Amino acid sequence: MGFTGNTVKELEAIVGKAGVTLDSEELLCYSYDATGRSYLPQAVVFPSTEAQAADILKLAFANSIPVVPRGSGSGMTGGAVPVQGGIVLVTSQMNRILEIDRENFIARVQPGVIVGDLHRAVEEKGLFYPPDPASSSVCTIGGNVGECAGGPRAVKYGVTRDYILGLRAVLPSGEIIRTGVATAKGVAGYDLTRLIVGSEGTLALVTEITLRLLAKPEQVKTMAAFFDSVDQAARTVSGIMKQAIVPRCVEYLDEASIRLVRDSLSFEMPDSVKALLILELDGDSDTIEREAVQVRDFCEGHGSLDVILAENQAQADQLWQARKALSPILFKIAKNKINEDIVVPISRIPDLVRETRKIQEKSGLTLVSFGHAGDGNIHCNIMYDQRDKDQAERAEKAVDDLFEVTLNLGGTITGEHGVGITKMKFLPREISSIELNLMKGIKKVFDPENILNPGKIFIQ
Ligand SMILES: Cc1cc2nc3c(=O)[nH]c(=O)nc-3n(C[C@H](O)[C@H](O)[C@H](O)COP(=O)(O)OP(=O)(O)OC[C@H]3O[C@@H](n4cnc5c(N)ncnc54)[C@H](O)[C@@H]3O)c2cc1C
Repeated sequence: MGFTGNTVKELEAIVGKAGVTLDSEELLCYSYDATGRSYLPQAVVFPSTEAQAADILKLAFANSIPVVPRGSGSGMTGGAVPVQGGIVLVTSQMNRILEIDRENFIARVQPGVIVGDLHRAVEEKGLFYPPDPASSSVCTIGGNVGECAGGPRAVKYGVTRDYILGLRAVLPSGEIIRTGVATAKGVAGYDLTRLIVGSEGTLALVTEITLRLLAKPEQVKTMAAFFDSVDQAARTVSGIMKQAIVPRCVEYLDEASIRLVRDSLSFEMPDSVKALLILELDGDSDTIEREAVQVRDFCEGHGSLDVILAENQAQADQLWQARKALSPILFKIAKNKINEDIVVPISRIPDLVRETRKIQEKSGLTLVSFGHAGDGNIHCNIMYDQRDKDQAERAEKAVDDLFEVTLNLGGTITGEHGVGITKMKFLPREISSIELNLMKGIKKVFDPENILNPGKIFIQ
């Protein structure tokens, strides 16, 4: 029982010698994700077929070896980190787009497909897959299913779960299941698809995904609105979302975020800017022109210093590149950061901004906030140096206060990054013990031996 020399031989028999690595540098590379928390696995395997993945799980099940599904390891809560060692199963060799069905607006893909590649492939055929996490150039669709990823366009189009019609997956026992449908509707039995989406790789290893697609919008218009008051910007977001127009993105950057990206933007920004909104509309060309004017007028009528319309794709790309670069360049401000993706009801965004300021003052730490304000999902980054014990303690307290405020405002502790290991201890504050016990029961049914991504979501 457990991982032995024989396990390596059996893994090699399944995926070949090239499909397994025990190399210490490789093990280190697969020991962490975007949280930076690191736990070494005993082996990393790269199956290239569903049958190989099923054989790996059968082997692990028979020998009680933990298996951790992994896409690109860009997760923000430690979901792909092997906290109990064992095998990290990487889906990078299962990365084929199997079918794009233009007539039925459906795609079938393997889990290791990079989301940005999927976007390009469907858009070449005049189709559209809306979920667009800011990490889309690196993250996999399997990882998006694992976390039920969102992204800027979720404001108008919803999140990953809204586009998953069906799955093929391997249970921890090695049995292969098929869930959902390849049709526009389907309610036969319990919705196992939705149960697996967002389950953070703890219930089943997803091996094939059937996606719902839309028609590619005719035109997109991107604009930036500057404010000299954070409260004013927050009130504008709440106000815009009450209008009949639904922008596809409403991203918010606070003053600290703007300082970090200012130099990479080619347009002039007034010196007094304290908040920036990136707004994006899509639709047919007539409607979009009219809506862009309405949104610009709304911002100007609500205290915006200036509103700039991107004149071409290059200017729009520049705005998005600046926004997407924010998370990595935050390390310029401090050695460590805790990134919390809290969500509050849209009408409570102004309250959240006020409360965040109080937490910043109380903790004496820098808090940098940006993100998907249009759906109330703000990424709040608490900057600190973990080598400094006092700072680390203040950062921990700030997280505690942030979750308290979020829940009091009727929000949730995670909108798209999941619970993983970083939010485990906070989950019981949002979910009652009755519901937690139901969830633990579901985990037991899927995974009686607790081998699939153990030590995640729940404190046992
Ligand atoms: C700079 C940056 C920006 C980001 N922006 C966003 C954003 O805008 N929106 C957003 O939602 N997230 C964002 N993220 C977080 C992250 O990219 C997403 O959570 C993404 O879905 C992770 O994909 P991955 O392939 O890297 O998965 P991994 O990190 O490898 O895994 C994530 C989880 O999914 C599970 N998993 C992976 N593959 C499978 C599979 N085949 N079957 C079952 N479970 C599986 C893993 O076990 C793990 O629990 C961002 C991250 C970074 C670093």
